[in-house]
Amino acid sequence: MSLSGLMQSKQLLISGLLTHAATHHGDVELVSQLYGGEVRRSNWRTLAQRAQKLAHVLAGLGVKPGDRVATLAWNTDRHLELYYAVAGMGAVLHTVNPRLFPEQIAYIVDHAADGIVFFDLDFADLLVKLAPQLKTVKRFVALCRPEQLPALDLPHLSAYEALLDAADEDYVWPEFDENTASSMCYTSGTTGNPKGVLYSHRSTVLHSFAACAADGLGLCARDCVLLAVPMFHVNAWGVPYASAMCGAKMVLPGSALSGDKLFAALRDEGCTLSLGVPTVWLGLFQYLDQHPLERDLPKLRLNRVVVGGSAAPRAIIERFEKQLGVFVIQAWGMSETSPLATISNLLPKHEGQPLDERYAVQCRQGRAIYGVEVAVFDAEGRALPHDGQSVGEIRVRGPWVLSAYYGTEPGSALDAQGWLSTGDVAYIDPDGYVQITDRSKDVIKSGGEWISSIDLENVALGHPKVGEAAVIGVAHSKWQERPLLVIVPKPGAELTGAEMLDFMKDRVARWWLPDDVVFVDELPHTATGKLLKTALREQFRNLRLSTDPA
Ligand code: AMP
Repeated sequence: MSLSGLMQSKQLLISGLLTHAATHHGDVELVSQLYGGEVRRSNWRTLAQRAQKLAHVLAGLGVKPGDRVATLAWNTDRHLELYYAVAGMGAVLHTVNPRLFPEQIAYIVDHAADGIVFFDLDFADLLVKLAPQLKTVKRFVALCRPEQLPALDLPHLSAYEALLDAADEDYVWPEFDENTASSMCYTSGTTGNPKGVLYSHRSTVLHSFAACAADGLGLCARDCVLLAVPMFHVNAWGVPYASAMCGAKMVLPGSALSGDKLFAALRDEGCTLSLGVPTVWLGLFQYLDQHPLERDLPKLRLNRVVVGGSAAPRAIIERFEKQLGVFVIQAWGMSETSPLATISNLLPKHEGQPLDERYAVQCRQGRAIYGVEVAVFDAEGRALPHDGQSVGEIRVRGPWVLSAYYGTEPGSALDAQGWLSTGDVAYIDPDGYVQITDRSKDVIKSGGEWISSIDLENVALGHPKVGEAAVIGVAHSKWQERPLLVIVPKPGAELTGAEMLDFMKDRVARWWLPDDVVFVDELPHTATGKLLKTALREQFRNLRLSTDPA
């Protein structure tokens, strides 16, 4: 018979993270860029006090455990207060991505049955238009001071700061089961309706440990984090929770994610770590290209940057290191994995390695962190070896990996062995580094062989005149599909298709070389900044490749 351990079974609750930060890191600053350009300096102690007031406000507005509360909001301390107050009282924070199409926003607010929407005033017009469709929403709260609140045609509208001013402080966070839902996020869904991912207190706290682990993101009390990933996208990669766990300073840039504003925040606040999707960093480097004096400023304390959401192009990894002395940590995951699943930290064998080889390691999506099992499977469901060659679909399982989408039966998203299919195609090398080669639907199938669109995009992005690049498969009468390269040149750059192919020809296998190159002013993106290849494929559906004999 097994013997029970005799340790305390304290539940892992999000309120515990905040209480810890307020008690042990109370003076650590939280700097926010608020609506209207105001910069507010708060700290973990004040945030905890205001979150307690907010919990009273929520209870007063009738929010009960399990109720869904929506936000359409930027990265600010007010949004952070909502993160803690809503979950802390046992309700569920639904962070709505404001970049979704309005019909999708209406769909997910209705699907989640959100009762209240807290919003930044930038989204007021959008909400006024949508309000008649939001049948479950009874109340709107604008994240502003009362004097900033305009007259808006929204029912039961209040100003956040007015509600907080009137509230009591002494809220006691309730204890409950750690498996209780804490927040939810809908996948941006390039096809079909978005699906809800429902995180729990337990999954969130365990995920925070992983973010703080040295071979995770290594987040710690000595860090000042610039959160350049939106708080409406997978809980800003869990960093708002992990920062409370370790007591890091946070810089919350509101909507200010342009290159100049990011650079100013990094410099002026002494940030040591930042996180964001590749597009954000391309913007930073574009700014630095235009302001060459800035980049040599010795003032930056930044030492590492986490890049995820899409493959980190080698050009970004190199530029961060060479120009700013910053180490790029690539991370891979998805809404369904909270999102951290693999992280590209180095092993002892990489120490002293030539830079070129080291960059190649950083270009991979990284190794599984404890807590997430990662494996690749072939089309018949057989596990593939970690030989750096066998390409298949990634499946994952672990305590912060989704088991079912919101509104479906627990476990219904998993196979018989408990694995979740990710739709990402990859191989794993003998050191355990995952290399994503594509989304399963984006792989280019040429004459029975697979061509990785991501690899080709990365090579194209290495050309100094290329701003953005996408590769899609286009129908070909002989090869079924062949790659088409679509390029947005950097502003003012003159570039030809022949120049591009010449640049790529020694960098990729001969038969991978795109058949044609087209230039466009912009590429379509999803609400989370990923290339929207379905739209691109549609755009070029009738294109006849110059190599097609038909
Ligand atoms: P989302 O659920 O919106 O976070 O999107 C998750 C998807 O983003 C993954 O399934 C991948 O296709 C893609 N993704 C995330 N991180 C990376 C990465 N480091 N490299 C390549 N693709 C990534």
